Amino acid sequence: MSFPLQKTEEEWLAILGPEKYYILRQKGTERPFTGQYNLHFDKGTYCCAGCGEPLFESDSKFDSHCGWPSFDDSIPGKVLYEHDFSHGMQRIEILCANCGGHLGHVFNDGPQETTGKRYCVNSASINFSE
Ligand SMILES: [Zn+2]
Repeated sequence: MSFPLQKTEEEWLAILGPEKYYILRQKGTERPFTGQYNLHFDKGTYCCAGCGEPLFESDSKFDSHCGWPSFDDSIPGKVLYEHDFSHGMQRIEILCANCGGHLGHVFNDGPQETTGKRYCVNSASINFSE
């Protein structure tokens, strides 16, 4: 897949630092209940930690008790979906549509009163802005 924002691996590592590089560029997962946005419910927008594109609105965030920031929807057109068969599981990976950064996965066990989706996102993949 080709994304509008292209950088070399060396450039990404320099921009992100080792921890965020591991999550965003090597499809890592932070340990549950450790991320800074897991229980963060201020009003604002969550932007890609790689490129700054707005990805999720705080109105979509809900407490899923899963240990990672969870949203029932993304900002339209900002997130791409990929089949992920790693770790012996069938999951849908979510990626920043602009830079291809790995955000997390989307599941079908979200709130039934809204979309039924749970976008399970690493805190390290996003930055909050008010
Ligand atoms: Zn991005």
